[in-house]
Amino acid sequence: MYLSKTDFREYVQCSKCLWLKKNNPDLYIRPAISEFDQKLINEGYEVELAAREMFEKGILVEGSNEEAATKTQKLMESKASPLFQATFITESGLLAKTDVLIYNEFADAWNVYEIKSSTNINKNGSDNHIYDITFQQVVMNKVGVSVEDSYIIHLNKDYKKNGNIDLFELFSITDVTDLVKEEYDNIESEAEKAMEFLTDKDVDLNSCSCLYSSRRNHCSSFKVLNQNVPDYSIHDISRISAKNLRLLIDDLIMNIWDIPEDFKLSPNQQKQVELEKSQVPEINTKSINKTLEELEYPLIFLDYETYVSAIPKVEGFSPHQHIPFQVSIHILHSRTELTHHEYLADNIENAPVGMIEFMQETIPDKGNLISWHASFENTRNKQIAEIYSQFSEFLLGLNDRTFDLETIFKDDYRHPGFKGRTSIKKVLPVLCPEFSYKDLEIQNGTEAMENWNRIIFDKELEESERSKIQESLLKYCELDTKAMVKIFKHLLEI
Ligand code: SF4
Repeated sequence: MYLSKTDFREYVQCSKCLWLKKNNPDLYIRPAISEFDQKLINEGYEVELAAREMFEKGILVEGSNEEAATKTQKLMESKASPLFQATFITESGLLAKTDVLIYNEFADAWNVYEIKSSTNINKNGSDNHIYDITFQQVVMNKVGVSVEDSYIIHLNKDYKKNGNIDLFELFSITDVTDLVKEEYDNIESEAEKAMEFLTDKDVDLNSCSCLYSSRRNHCSSFKVLNQNVPDYSIHDISRISAKNLRLLIDDLIMNIWDIPEDFKLSPNQQKQVELEKSQVPEINTKSINKTLEELEYPLIFLDYETYVSAIPKVEGFSPHQHIPFQVSIHILHSRTELTHHEYLADNIENAPVGMIEFMQETIPDKGNLISWHASFENTRNKQIAEIYSQFSEFLLGLNDRTFDLETIFKDDYRHPGFKGRTSIKKVLPVLCPEFSYKDLEIQNGTEAMENWNRIIFDKELEESERSKIQESLLKYCELDTKAMVKIFKHLLEI
């Protein structure tokens, strides 16, 4: 069994999860790879290929792990450099594939480079880049390779596309040699411990440490390892602390219904618990009516879809910056008169400009705009206003007129069916059960992004398939604003 850098990262995140994956794949529930995850993986590869172009005459080491390790050894004996994907395997099974390896003739040693598609170097958390590169160096040292300097190549967050991509502007190369030295002993001992743990046959599969963490930290195997925890449990209480979880679990309380009346929770958490126990919605009709009365007609319900790419594809945009490509607008001219307007870009270069010009023609000068979780649309408006100053007044003016419909569900409308959440996907099925996303081809924003990616960049896509995707995108975005109108009308009638 090998332990690669990716395995080691997973071990740091959760040793038991990696153990299951390696030793009991039938019990391990592989996290679903969303279209967005796949997009990130593809982009990571695209970034790596682009970064390699900065190193002339690089040699790519290919083949199985064992073949690549043998080839690497031979190439290094002849001081061939730069090497891409140079491979090293220790006797204990630690495996490293380095992104770029360059011979440093002054030190008679090697400089190692890790390529990251992020715009910064993560030094904390589960995706610690310093751990990654230190792990590589530990493996190389163990097979007798001397490493002089360590570098991380990452995207430059201040880069803005201006004509052809300049790789030396797009990427930043940061010397992390000292940080690697600081972490070295720790990673060396943890990597060996990880190998020992993975070969341990006696691991307890009846529980795991996430029993004391809130739901968002759980992996897909939580249910397998904690069979006595209900699907909706104390772990779902909004922002519940590890301390409170421990206090409850020590008293064998997993179900929200069993939480004692005098157990100390924040007011918000307390409300969630009360709602679950009573199953009676809590609606502040007076406050909701007052909020709705203050809104000025026509009401313009607005929703964007955006595209993100690691390497910017539109002039003026930076790595990972959202590029709006689609908008759906429902205009409620009066309580009964509703019109729908939509825009879907058919090329990337002109996507934001085309969309904003469409909005200028469509959106009335008066009336409130309504979005759900409006900070998303408002941030896009601010960013586009910075790039295209000719739209600045219009876009910032939209922000001034925007009302966030979600706030009503944070402050004045709570329902046990929302399960402590306020996203439109949680609220809609409770308030308007006849209205659903489930029959749509495209179910969420990341699927929309991925599908748009196909119609824009897949040159071999058949015309009929392209039309089908365009239709699905339009239906999905339309439903987002239609859902807001539905919810708004429901509020008018309470
Ligand atoms: S639920 Fe948490 S502790 Fe349990 S296996 Fe998954 S990541 Fe590890």
